[in-house]
Amino acid sequence: MNPRNNVLDLATRRGFLWQSHEIYGGIAGFYDLGPLGTLMGYKIIDLWRKMFIRRHQEFVVEIKTPIITPAIVFKASGHEEHFTDYAVECKSCGRVYRADHLIEEMLKVKAEGLKAHELERLIREYSIKCPACGGELSSVRAFNLLFVTYVGPYSENNKAYLRPEAAQGMFVNFKKVYEYMRRRMPLGIAQIGRVARNEISPRQRLIRLREFTIMEMEFFFDPRDPKVEILYERCSHRKIRVLRAEDKMRGGGPIEVTPVEAYEEKIIMCPWLAYWMCVAQEFIEALGVPYKDTMFEEKAPHELAHYSKQTFDQLVRTERWGWIEVSGHAYRYDYDLSRHTKFSGEDLYALRRLKEPKLVRREQLRIDKKIIIEHFGRSAAEVFRTLHTIPQDKLIKIVKESTGEFVKIKNFEIPKSALKIEVVEEKVDVEKFLPHVAEPSFGLERLIYVALEHAYREDNERVYLALPPYIAPIQVAVFPLVSREPLTSIAHSLYKDLAEEFDVIYDDSGTIGRRYARADEIGVPLAVTIDYKTVEDHTVTIRDRDSKKQVRVPMPKVAEVVRQVIRGAKLLELGFPEV
Ligand code: AMP
Repeated sequence: MNPRNNVLDLATRRGFLWQSHEIYGGIAGFYDLGPLGTLMGYKIIDLWRKMFIRRHQEFVVEIKTPIITPAIVFKASGHEEHFTDYAVECKSCGRVYRADHLIEEMLKVKAEGLKAHELERLIREYSIKCPACGGELSSVRAFNLLFVTYVGPYSENNKAYLRPEAAQGMFVNFKKVYEYMRRRMPLGIAQIGRVARNEISPRQRLIRLREFTIMEMEFFFDPRDPKVEILYERCSHRKIRVLRAEDKMRGGGPIEVTPVEAYEEKIIMCPWLAYWMCVAQEFIEALGVPYKDTMFEEKAPHELAHYSKQTFDQLVRTERWGWIEVSGHAYRYDYDLSRHTKFSGEDLYALRRLKEPKLVRREQLRIDKKIIIEHFGRSAAEVFRTLHTIPQDKLIKIVKESTGEFVKIKNFEIPKSALKIEVVEEKVDVEKFLPHVAEPSFGLERLIYVALEHAYREDNERVYLALPPYIAPIQVAVFPLVSREPLTSIAHSLYKDLAEEFDVIYDDSGTIGRRYARADEIGVPLAVTIDYKTVEDHTVTIRDRDSKKQVRVPMPKVAEVVRQVIRGAKLLELGFPEV
């Protein structure tokens, strides 16, 4: 067995993660992050924020929206109808399986995206039985993965869902953020938060969770003028490996291209999808995954989500589970904004400036004040106020849809004769359009797993995690050589100092060798030791986790060394004498 398979045991033993609710037996699909997993999660989030948001902050912003979401949002988004997987149940033992996964496991073929009758046919044709007890399997049934809840007491009418993706929070807020960004296009809206999916019998530990953290961006752009110069500036030399759907279905392998070539050769349909895939490649390599263990796999047409015109899954090779998806890159087109425009009645369009002004005819509502004053007398002022709070296009819609002589608007029955729709001609230099959307979407827990697995090292004398210093949960350890004064006081005061800025541990129990080993095992990149020379000349040793080599550094420079190593410098190349 490859030693990397041991990483989950180490991660559980040393406080990175463990199954949730364990003292009550736990339920599949829920994992807690322990103290080290939590710290590592923050650091991966920081790296993601840096690479996807901070470096693009002139056009990408971040928001936070609720997990509990009114059902109408997911009706509009199509999830109520389409967010389903297929399940089969064992007629003898009652175990439930996800039908496509079961077929993939038993027949070693791809089954994702197959329809119910196709799954059914394969199960019958190959006489697939319950892998646990050999029992007969039920027919294939669709199962919606949305978690349902109700808001407030006695509230069966206030149905809501736990969001299965953060994306809808960005779509329903598109107009507000677009206005906040002074109608800038392109525009990215990002969100990091918890999501829940009622997965059918998840069995891959923290790879398939029922609740997890998503890091997601909806990137809105004008398809006629995507303004994507940055793709050419930053991605002309970086390579990515892409497995095209047609090659996949023929049993072929990935090709190697730059994101620019992939876009120009129409392998990736959408320029911004190509750009964010380029950033995603950099990001995954920054987590310590080597290029050869990465690729993007295009979804075949029958595997596409209902909102997507084209999707690439970013895959990472793992020892334990083979290739796993760590992020999805979907060209969501204008699907979501058009659906929300339709369902909410709100105008979610953006504006584009025309090269030349044009003459357009538009409908306008003319309010006959005289009729309203005659009809409402002293309440007329309130009627006018109410009419002014409603957007013109909404009023026109209400008037058009009303039959009879009166139009009901809020609490007023207004004579239809007072609300006249006229057609006017005017010159305009802007037009409305629905932006298209490219979406990169990452699951945090899977990233934690792949970073841990790729960092895992075992040799004759030790086990260590060669995590990149910027995602290591603890960045520096402070040890007095022996647990005696004045070494302990000096070490303690250095520890306090470093703790203002870094995640740091102090350890004075056991031999120094054992303390190094404990720190190595959780991936601490730097260990500072206070020895008797420190008392004489105020220098300390700093040990490099991977090479085990040490340098001697003046104590006041320690914080700067840690800072530089976190930013990517190598300890042994900073010019301090080796000891
Ligand atoms: P999706 O919206 O299905 O493309 O998911 C986006 C990302 O979330 C995936 O690339 C995974 O990294 C992660 N993800 C999806 N489903 C799960 C799950 N059940 N458990 C953990 N992570 C998940």
